Amino acid sequence: MMDRFQVAATPCPDCRGKGQITLLVSVQSCARCHGSGQIHPLLDRSVEDLELSIRSRNILRKLGVQTISQLIQLSPAQLHGARNSNALVLKEVQDLLARLGLGLRGDVAI
Ligand SMILES: [Zn+2]
Repeated sequence: MMDRFQVAATPCPDCRGKGQITLLVSVQSCARCHGSGQIHPLLDRSVEDLELSIRSRNILRKLGVQTISQLIQLSPAQLHGARNSNALVLKEVQDLLARLGLGLRGDVAI
């Protein structure tokens, strides 16, 4: 299923690939691309597109996670601690994200 995704980073539209945005008083890393200047092509896709178990889908839905971008902002502790979650759910999500070159917050730098 993942084969139909083209995994190649594209310049971040928010910071135009510079990785930083200038606010009124300070320069900060761009929140969208996390300072890399590029965004992963899957970030705006729905988590419904991922091959997740029904249990995992329900947990993410309850957490209000709709896109892959929102998913990777979750920490492993948040996901594991969610209602009805467990170590298998956490591992399933982590393994799936790892195959896409992504990770939960703190797991893998994008
Ligand atoms: Zn950016």
